[in-house]
Amino acid sequence: MHYSIHFLVPVAVAFLFFKKDQRKVLFILWAGIFIDIDHLLATPIFDPERCSIDFHPLHTYWALIVYVGLFLIRKTRVIGLALLLHILADAIDCWLLFLESK
Ligand SMILES: [Zn+2]
Repeated sequence: MHYSIHFLVPVAVAFLFFKKDQRKVLFILWAGIFIDIDHLLATPIFDPERCSIDFHPLHTYWALIVYVGLFLIRKTRVIGLALLLHILADAIDCWLLFLESK
C-alpha cells in the first residue's frame, strides 16, 4: 500500500502537470522515496504500525518547511515537489492507520 502511493502518485503528477519532460520529472519524483533512508536510524527499521511523520528526521515539520522552500525556488521546484509528495504519501498512510485503529 505505502509504496504503491509512492510510485503511482508521481506517475499521475508527471503526466498531469509536466507535459514537457515527463520522464525526467518522473525519475526525480521517484527519487523522493530515498528520504526513507532516515528510517534506517530508527529501531525497528520498519514498523507498519508507526507513523513516520514527525518521527524520522527527514519527516519532521522542520524538514517540511525546507521542502516547501525548495518547491518555491524555480530551479529546485521538482525536487521540492518530490519531497512534498513523499511526505503527503506518508501522511495518507498515517491517516489510514488512524482509521484502522478506530
Ligand atoms: Zn517516508
